[in-house]
Amino acid sequence: MNCLFCNIISGKIPAKLVYQDDTVVAFDDINPKAPHHKLIIPRKHISTLNDLTVEDRLVLGHMAEAAQKIAKELNIAEQGYRFVINCNAEAGQSVFHLHAHLLGGRQMTWPPG
Ligand code: AMP
Ligand code: ZN
Repeated sequence: MNCLFCNIISGKIPAKLVYQDDTVVAFDDINPKAPHHKLIIPRKHISTLNDLTVEDRLVLGHMAEAAQKIAKELNIAEQGYRFVINCNAEAGQSVFHLHAHLLGGRQMTWPPG
């Protein structure tokens, strides 16, 4: 399986890492949609949110914990930020390795497009 985000985790494809631990890796989105746009991904390859199993249930909490840390580091925790997971075609998922978008640094609109 040739997965873009697995290749970022292994270092085969470069990315600007902003956080990593035993479970997750976070890096700059290559096409930022906000002044701060990071992607938080599990080291384990999970294709979509639909594929998360009971054994992986801690992974999502870990991704949220990483988002907290990064938002604090970026100084956007208090003003606010988005933590978004797109699942499959209608949500606009384009990379099939589970990832959360951390978006911040500007006023967001609701509902999302
Ligand atoms: P999604 O549309 O939710 O699947 O999000 C995929 C995200 O991955 C998009 O925001 C892309 O800009 C981002 N992306 C694609 N290729 C790379 C890359 N090589 N490095 C960093 N981010 C990427
Ligand atoms: Zn992968």
